[in-house]
Amino acid sequence: MNAYQALLQAQKSYFLTGQTKSIQHRIDSLQKLRQAIRQAESKISDALHADLNKSALDAYSTEIGIVLEEIAFMLRHIRRWSKPRRVKAPMTHIGSSSKVYPQPYGSALIIAPWNYPFQLAIAPLIGAIAAGNCAVIKPSELAPHTSQVLRELIERLFSSEYIAVVEGGIETNQALLAERFDYIFFTGSVHVGKIVMKAAAKHLTPVTLELGGKSPCIVHKDANLKLAAKRIAWGKFLNAGQTCIAPDYVYVHKQVEQAFISHLKEAVHALYDEEPLQNESYTRIISKRHFDRLTAFMEAGHIKLGGGSDEQSLRIEPTVLSDITWQDPIMGEEIFGPLLPLLTYEDLSELTKGIEQHPNPLAFYLFTEDRKLQEQMITDMSFGGGCINDTIFHMPQPYLPFGGIGPSGIGAYHGKGSFDTFTHYKSVLRQTTRFDLPFRYPNMKHAMKIV
Ligand code: NAD
Repeated sequence: MNAYQALLQAQKSYFLTGQTKSIQHRIDSLQKLRQAIRQAESKISDALHADLNKSALDAYSTEIGIVLEEIAFMLRHIRRWSKPRRVKAPMTHIGSSSKVYPQPYGSALIIAPWNYPFQLAIAPLIGAIAAGNCAVIKPSELAPHTSQVLRELIERLFSSEYIAVVEGGIETNQALLAERFDYIFFTGSVHVGKIVMKAAAKHLTPVTLELGGKSPCIVHKDANLKLAAKRIAWGKFLNAGQTCIAPDYVYVHKQVEQAFISHLKEAVHALYDEEPLQNESYTRIISKRHFDRLTAFMEAGHIKLGGGSDEQSLRIEPTVLSDITWQDPIMGEEIFGPLLPLLTYEDLSELTKGIEQHPNPLAFYLFTEDRKLQEQMITDMSFGGGCINDTIFHMPQPYLPFGGIGPSGIGAYHGKGSFDTFTHYKSVLRQTTRFDLPFRYPNMKHAMKIV
């Protein structure tokens, strides 16, 4: 038996003791986790700085603060969500009563990416704990400082038979995926999502896949351009564009393109100063490989803003590229960096055609004051989730389940969505023995029809 098999065996035995199912145990665990995160705040922040040059403010607002909010939300609702729920019965079921019992799966494998390496490991864990599961977290090897902090934090808090962190790279992940977990929660690329789903299929393990894609952002001619530019610049260049729901590209109405570009410049300067590479708190690109991939994209179109980069510190300026077409390499894959290509449209049908010819995106953003157009786009376009007149903000809204559709993901989480993801809803009908309805047995001999 290898180490991963032994770990999973230990978790399965622990799960069978029933301890993780106790609501009080789940509440205590979440409170312990919250307390420990608060205490380790500066350590986590330092690790995020070491891995991605994240500022303390970004570390708190996009990673630590988000998970603390999620724990608070979960604690407020966990007792109600964990209760069996009585459901109605039709006339055919007279005499019976039916309930849905929320039940944990068992041991969940949580695989995290590097871009928000703390948040994207802990947020699913909160759901797994709240629903009463054991869990193994596999952080990303590309954010090694955060990976280590995660392991130390969890080791201090919980026994590994309940919750464990396994550090390592692709081989570790492959070894874990070979085991029969009861649930797999994966956040990462579409390519690896397919590998995960294939491995899960071997054991028929249910999965949630939080993937990526090219999320469009439309700026219509009637949009509040100044506000649109500010909110797009913030959502795009946050974490140097390494955000799964960052607007990947902007489709701007031709009439307002120039005005939008000038507002965009103003917004970027206000957020990151005139020389972002001199800004100490501007996030870096995760690796040289990603840096090279991104700088090669800059050959397309015309640079309207930025364009500079520093190989030493792996940082790329917030860059806006105009005159881009779907044939340019930058439109061939998810950008995942601080490059914002602009495409223009005059007729809405060319825009929808352009978007619809590509895989369903994880997020979709539309800036317009036209209510009818808003409704039309929400109805017609296929996407995981999104915002009207904003970017990113649907993600930390705990009442909105967060996830993709088609190639951008399967399933959703956050808030009740997280509880549901890690819960099997067991449907049970309790039948009366006081009488038996004869119409159920049309072929049965008369004598047996009556109790
Ligand atoms: P990735 O798919 O390369 O890696 C994710 C995890 O899978 C890591 O833990 C890694 O160790 C493991 N892994 C990598 N290659 C593997 C292989 N061949 N076999 C088995 N495991 C393997 O993703 P990433 O580069 O860390 O993250 C970027 C991607 O994640 C982007 O596409 C982004 O859109 C997506 N993402 C999605 C969300 C979301 O919530 N939907 C959030 C963040 C990132």
